[in-house]
Amino acid sequence: MEQKTFAYWQGKADALTFEGRALIDGEFRAAQSGRTFECISPIDGRVLTTVADCAAADVNTAVAAARRSFAAGVWAGQNPRERKAVLLRWAALIRQHEEELALLETLDAGKPICDTTTVDVPGAAYSIEWYAEAIDKIGGEVVPSDHHLLGLVTREPIGVVAAVVPWNFPLLMAAWKFAPALAAGNSVVLKPSEKSPLSVLRVAQLAHEAGIPAGVFSVLPGGGEVGKLLALHSDVDCLAFTGSTAVGKQIMQYAGQSNLKRIWLELGGKSPNIVLADCADIGRAAQAAAGAIFYNMGEMCTAGSRLLVQRDIKAALLDKLVAAARRYKPGNPLDPATSMGAIIDQVQFERVLGYIETGRSEAQLLLGGEAVQQDSGGFYIEPTVFDVPHANAKIAREEIFGPVLSVLTFDTAEEAIHLANDSDYGLAAAVWTADLTQAHEMARRLRAGTVWVNCYDEGGDMNFPFGGYRQSGNGRDKSLHALEKYTELKSTLVRLR
Ligand code: NAP
Ligand code: MG
Repeated sequence: MEQKTFAYWQGKADALTFEGRALIDGEFRAAQSGRTFECISPIDGRVLTTVADCAAADVNTAVAAARRSFAAGVWAGQNPRERKAVLLRWAALIRQHEEELALLETLDAGKPICDTTTVDVPGAAYSIEWYAEAIDKIGGEVVPSDHHLLGLVTREPIGVVAAVVPWNFPLLMAAWKFAPALAAGNSVVLKPSEKSPLSVLRVAQLAHEAGIPAGVFSVLPGGGEVGKLLALHSDVDCLAFTGSTAVGKQIMQYAGQSNLKRIWLELGGKSPNIVLADCADIGRAAQAAAGAIFYNMGEMCTAGSRLLVQRDIKAALLDKLVAAARRYKPGNPLDPATSMGAIIDQVQFERVLGYIETGRSEAQLLLGGEAVQQDSGGFYIEPTVFDVPHANAKIAREEIFGPVLSVLTFDTAEEAIHLANDSDYGLAAAVWTADLTQAHEMARRLRAGTVWVNCYDEGGDMNFPFGGYRQSGNGRDKSLHALEKYTELKSTLVRLR
């Protein structure tokens, strides 16, 4: 078997071709305006290709095609067993094209190839398989009611679902939405981020190859305006969004201004990772704390961006943490040895460096803080750790979405809970302790959609609902609960005599 070296991936990348047109009603089309934008690789700043810059006319065409296909029942009307078969074929095609899709993801978003081949692409295929396998096994209910009635409770696809997704996991965040939405029988219009449109366009092409009917799954690349048009569209029944809290707030308003479409939001976070002095393995906690913030360049909604450490073990933990952080060395993401790739683009790069500048004035820099590899033309930032003296520091409160860790110190478990919950967000949290009672008590009191105990970011399978409390959003991706977002409940009461 050929060894997949840096040179191997570079060769493959050079030979790759890109499709930048929108996929609307079963075919690739240029934007109706003819406008395009440049798709840039954060690896070296190179223009990969041009991409259709969709606008109102394209949104209207895609939504109309979705409505038509839904009303005609070409997908929604199929036996769930038949939908399952198509979805499983699609997932198999994704697995067959794993290298190509991983390369698209790496070139477009700067993510390490060692991650796109093991997490992003197989994870997207798995999401599709998981919902495919679920959908022909879930039935409705016959509920207790008056003896003269037969009461049925059923779930129906909601209709036209729009999905608007970010750039940090371009394929996986999209799959967490389109997989349950399509499995349930909806027609879906997806808007990827303009920073990373390439992989989902190819995946949508594979969907059609697998047998998804025309109009049932369209992909509209373009700027935030496309997301806004979808959120304001009166023929979109539901919009599922992953992105920033600021845009999530706007999307709720668009729904209010239009047709009260169902809005589901997976938003930002500033997740606390709490290490108590009785933690059984400080080495592991340190390693996990580094992974929690430096994996995917810190471009993680669940990033453990606040490390809360009990004073007695602070020095020991920070020693090990800094050693673990040094192992994340920014490098070319096409090199399989690289564990930390490029920041998505110049805007985000400058934003993160801006936070680092702020950090220098309000905290003590323990590690990193510099842009590196600048002659590459790409956007690379070192793993950065700050010891933060007070919880109100800007870097300890705001989501940075980059490789910047804030360390906060506490004395008692009670104080740790208070610090952890003192946030606008509530996406995830973790606690490290050898005391089982303490672990359960703290897990119960942490206001977050996911709580890890003695680990961080575990749970790659689909069984766990994923989403946030408070301004981290509403509704949940993954698990059978995600199907609730894309279906309406119907009560049918039949009078028997
Ligand atoms: P973003 O700026 O909110 O953008 C997300 C998506 O919304 C993009 O496709 C964007 O398009 C689009 N958009 C922008 N303005 C819009 C508007 N007015 N109306 C409708 N859509 C609009 O977020 P991002 O920078 O891409 O991603 C980072 C954020 O996502 C972070 O806050 C992170 O925490 C969050 N995130 C959350 C989760 C989770 O599951 N909770 C997962 C991953 C990321 P353009 O990019 O083309 O402008
Ligand atoms: Mg890009």
